[in-house]
Amino acid sequence: MAPKLSDCLFCKIVAGDIPATVVHDTDDVMAFRDLNPVAPTHVLVIPKRHIVGADHIAAEDGDVLAAMFVAARAVAAADGVDESGYRTVFNVGAHAGQTVPHLHLHVLGGRGMSWPPG
Ligand code: 5GP
Ligand code: ZN
Repeated sequence: MAPKLSDCLFCKIVAGDIPATVVHDTDDVMAFRDLNPVAPTHVLVIPKRHIVGADHIAAEDGDVLAAMFVAARAVAAADGVDESGYRTVFNVGAHAGQTVPHLHLHVLGGRGMSWPPG
């Protein structure tokens, strides 16, 4: 298990050093509301273990990835957007707009969304 990074924002949220509105919490993953939501439901699902991003996922990370999507499904159901639909997004790197280097799955719902994304 990789060590927690003391300067990582989301590791600090996992540790409870930075407050967040946590909506789902298991041994392996945590989900909390985005500080600057862009949709009525905007939740970030993260692994508690530090993984830099979707471009750093290894074959052995399969279980935690599955746990993230199970959490996303539970979050969507709890917010009542499971029937209307929701979007799950991993931003990778500068062009996609990744700003936090700790893997996070955006769960967005509660309004219609266009495709392709902007
Ligand atoms: P990214 O742009 O890396 O895909 O997504 C990072 C997300 O983290 C952004 O949507 C941003 O609003 C959110 N964020 C940044 N800092 C914080 C924080 O301290 N708390 C919470 N809850 N969300 C944050
Ligand atoms: Zn981290």
